[in-house]
Amino acid sequence: MYLGGMSSSMPEDVQYAMYRTVPGLENVRIVRNAYAIEYDCINAVQLKSSLEFKKIEGLFAGGQFNGSSGYEEAAAQGIVAGINAALFVKKEEPLILDRSESYIGVLIDDLVTKETAEPYRMMTSRAEYRLILRQDNADIRLTKYGYRVGLISEERMNRLTRKIQLIDEEIERVKSVNIGTGSEVQKVLTDNGSTELTTGATLAELIRRPELSYDVLAPIDKHRPELPCDVCEQVNINLKYEGYIDRQLRQVEHFKKLENKLIPDSLDYLEISGLRKEAMQKLDKFRPRSIGQASRISGVSPADISVLLVYLESLRRKH
Ligand SMILES: Cc1cc2nc3c(=O)[nH]c(=O)nc-3n(C[C@H](O)[C@H](O)[C@H](O)COP(=O)(O)OP(=O)(O)OC[C@H]3O[C@@H](n4cnc5c(N)ncnc54)[C@H](O)[C@@H]3O)c2cc1C
Repeated sequence: MYLGGMSSSMPEDVQYAMYRTVPGLENVRIVRNAYAIEYDCINAVQLKSSLEFKKIEGLFAGGQFNGSSGYEEAAAQGIVAGINAALFVKKEEPLILDRSESYIGVLIDDLVTKETAEPYRMMTSRAEYRLILRQDNADIRLTKYGYRVGLISEERMNRLTRKIQLIDEEIERVKSVNIGTGSEVQKVLTDNGSTELTTGATLAELIRRPELSYDVLAPIDKHRPELPCDVCEQVNINLKYEGYIDRQLRQVEHFKKLENKLIPDSLDYLEISGLRKEAMQKLDKFRPRSIGQASRISGVSPADISVLLVYLESLRRKH
């Protein structure tokens, strides 16, 4: 019988105490722990963010082989490696998802910029922009990439574009509707444990109250259009958490600026005077694709990044 992975690292008496609490296993005997699988893997810093080997053109790697563990981790890398192998054959730009738009981006970026001693597992805490990487907005974040590489149909892409349009229009409408202080309004507020209004407020302002929501306000929203549930959900989330989401979007903007400052593949870090020795060696080993990625390599300081930026600017001027 296979009884689960984590337990095999527990002391045997603890395992017995636990298993024997299960009806039917009162006399269970452990013959051999099953979860001691050993496997070999590459050091994923040999890979580009596209999952292509830096030194073996056209060879892409994904899954446990790259030092991760887990079904989703393997599937996420598998689809990216597969897409990029196909794009390579078609001589098209690789698909690289960044840390601000997907957990896949976080996973791959961590694998290719950090040398992990333990099998890598994806945890939400590894992502900096968790407010944006939500399950409910996965289609809004990623459909365009699927469409770009030919995995999403035009019809599905059009559906999403329409959905985004409906969300934007409804947010605008709700921000402009002043709900007044009529008795019907006050009743909906008190019925939902909210304080009554003394002066008018917009629907958007009411949605931001923790005890209220877009759906709850439907009875007093006389001109509300008929909208699909997933549109209503986005309107509600985007208004309720607008302040926090906007703050995170500003952080993402800063992050994107650094991600978009690309470093030429051929850059000779050992030639850049002003870089500290450790930074030189690390950059030479990891060969980051962007300034953003360079800044995440341990041992590369903000001062090294400044030196690198100045050097890249001088290169740009020369050409
Ligand atoms: C007992 C156990 C329990 C687990 N439980 C969980 C769990 O609950 N949740 C979870 O998320 N993860 C779990 N994992 C981890 C998860 O199964 C793996 O991390 C994941 O399946 C790895 O997928 P992969 O595609 O990278 O590799 P694999 O699934 O190992 O696929 C590699 C494939 O390559 C084939 N292959 C190897 N060499 C060659 C060759 N030379 N030529 C051709 N083919 C070759 C192999 O036969 C295999 O089919 C568990 C693992 C084990 C062992």
